[in-house]
Amino acid sequence: MLLSSPLRIFWRVTGASGRPDDSLIVSIVRAIAAARPFEVALSGAPLEVESLPELLSPITGAGISITVIDRPERIASLNAAANSGLKAVALVSGIDDLRVLAERCQPEVFTMDTVHVSPEWNVLKYLAEMLPQLAYSGVRRVVIPNPDLISSGAGDVSPYVYGPERIARLAASLEEVYCTTGIPALIAHDLFLARALGLGSPEYGGCQAGNAVCFISPDGTVYPCATLPVPLGNLTEVSLKAVWADAKRRELVGKISTMPACCVSCDLLASCLGGCRGMAYAAGGGFDVPDPGCGLVG
Ligand code: SF4
Ligand code: SF4
Repeated sequence: MLLSSPLRIFWRVTGASGRPDDSLIVSIVRAIAAARPFEVALSGAPLEVESLPELLSPITGAGISITVIDRPERIASLNAAANSGLKAVALVSGIDDLRVLAERCQPEVFTMDTVHVSPEWNVLKYLAEMLPQLAYSGVRRVVIPNPDLISSGAGDVSPYVYGPERIARLAASLEEVYCTTGIPALIAHDLFLARALGLGSPEYGGCQAGNAVCFISPDGTVYPCATLPVPLGNLTEVSLKAVWADAKRRELVGKISTMPACCVSCDLLASCLGGCRGMAYAAGGGFDVPDPGCGLVG
């Protein structure tokens, strides 16, 4: 079903050029509040913007759920955000972040219920080592989100294409770790990763880029998803509802939902639905190619 506005909005608040002006933040906030999504997730060091909780009031006032994702170094600000009613999530981008979490998450003071672990292989390869340490820091849920190919600039998918050997090694190491009790639950957005790791209910339920999902970059440009680098419009010029009503967005969703020729006869199509269409687009420059994470083709 083609939706008239996105339900989940991912907004990268700060970028390479640093903190955006308050006026730009206010424009983006207004556009989001008017679109009335169910939830908004803020990434890209959002808590560098100290006035952010105040600037977000049109969204919070509309009863829209907000998740703030930031580095463990800003755990005090994350704590403050959680105390002001926002969901707070720490983003682990390397082993050093675990030390920071262990030092700053003291169960009697503050624990971080959910942590995101960067989906880059250079980080993910340490997952089995990380999980017991995260458990020690009080973490109960670890999410491996989809890659942000827009903020990384070049749209290079190679750090996120793991290959069957690496995934098998990771699966074996996780099996050992999960022999111990108290290890955080694991959720992966990537369908093939979730399946290979034996995760019961992957977040993925068919690509929702440009329909239920939307990504906003620090300069206000709207994309169908952080993993699908196709700009749809800019919130300094048009409203989010207008971007969603535009023919360009509808055509894009049509392309996303048209399966690549090599998938049409695949027995797994009904559950896979072509995998991540953003990864396919970024890897192959079009939609008639499969997700590079699929081990059945190429
Ligand atoms: S070929 Fe791969 S991506 Fe295509 S439907 Fe089958 S499993 Fe999915
Ligand atoms: S492009 Fe689709 S499947 Fe890929 S991360 Fe975005 S919403 Fe998920």
